[in-house]
Amino acid sequence: MSFVKDSVNKQPIVDNVFTIVSKAKQAIAEYGNDAVVNATIGSLYGEDGKLVALDTVYDSLKNLDNRSMAAYAASFTGNPDFKEQAYDWVLNGNSHLNHEVIATPGGTGAVDMTVSYCLDPGQTLVLPSLAWGSYNLMAQMNNLKTVKYDLFEEDHFNLNSFKKACLSAMEVQDRLVVIINDPCHNPSGYSLSKEEWNEVIAFLNECSKTHSVVLLNDIAYIDFSYQQEKAKEYMNCFDSISDNVVVVIAFSLSKSMTSYGLRCGAAIILAQKEQAVQEVKIVFEKNARATWSNINNGAMNMFVDVMKNHKEKYNEERNQYVSLLKERSDIFVQEANEVGLKHYPYKEGFFVTLSMDNETRDKYHQALMDQHIYTVKVNNGIRVAVCSLSVDKVKGLAKRMKDIYDQV
Ligand code: PLP
Repeated sequence: MSFVKDSVNKQPIVDNVFTIVSKAKQAIAEYGNDAVVNATIGSLYGEDGKLVALDTVYDSLKNLDNRSMAAYAASFTGNPDFKEQAYDWVLNGNSHLNHEVIATPGGTGAVDMTVSYCLDPGQTLVLPSLAWGSYNLMAQMNNLKTVKYDLFEEDHFNLNSFKKACLSAMEVQDRLVVIINDPCHNPSGYSLSKEEWNEVIAFLNECSKTHSVVLLNDIAYIDFSYQQEKAKEYMNCFDSISDNVVVVIAFSLSKSMTSYGLRCGAAIILAQKEQAVQEVKIVFEKNARATWSNINNGAMNMFVDVMKNHKEKYNEERNQYVSLLKERSDIFVQEANEVGLKHYPYKEGFFVTLSMDNETRDKYHQALMDQHIYTVKVNNGIRVAVCSLSVDKVKGLAKRMKDIYDQV
């Protein structure tokens, strides 16, 4: 006898990150901060070792009328001004497709809603093999199978593997749903080139001759791209999707606004035909109403205020941290290359990931902890969160990690 659905997997979540985070904290308490490298935390930290909370964002939030934070949102799909500002900020004039926006609790809400409602139980979701762990959990909770594509062929996007994964899902069902986490992929830090995006779209258009296609583009880290506005230009390739393709962009305020806990984001639905947009919107709206009902009104109003009244200051403040992130990752990647510490092709973003097989990874991860270096295990790799390490901590880290690697 069971108290929950028979169809759901009842094994507890194995949370690699939080277990190691607490080990790192314990080590800091025991040996002192200087003796420990805590490269586990996936949030942006300043050089002072504290979480970054952008002044522009929190000054705006605290200046809101109390009632603006207390009130329900104007609509189950989010406030109209939030939806407009989110669309303009994300697309930045790069796309001219029919569209709708649904406010969601973070990027997670947008990704989960797409995974839950674009596939039926038993169908197959196409994912990268190196990926944010929640995609697999979402698939599991919805009784979906997964097929994985290898992200890389040498130092570029593995289009062949992507095609193979899509074709194998298409053999068993009439709908193709694929996730591409780009730019600033978590955890590799890779971003597809415009040419690679064009190839992906051309292929999905081919697939759409026989199957409906949903492309979920998870852009969680886009506002920390080293290309800034230019990083959004690839989105103009969405304008060449066929009538049988829908794009859902999962946008998150968590990283963009350093507001992880405010739980605000958006699903931006794009298609050639208004009818396709409406079909997805109607289902997403019902899901919103039936699950979270409303999105944090204060967070939405803060975003609108920042976009309308403080954009320049916000860009300036955020860009200081983009430069800091670049400084940290430049040092790590350059030193890693000098000493021959192998990593996946990194371009930009919060994480650099060392590449190795899973057996070596397990031994190496423990060996690093023995030397008070805390990292996160990912599939065939070790994730180093340069986003939360000070420049001082990054300097010399690759060499230390290589020396430990050579002894494993
Ligand atoms: N997508 C990726 C790749 C992530 O790493 C995260 C958070 O870590 C998210 C989406 C969702 O974040 P949130 O729900 O806080 O917006």
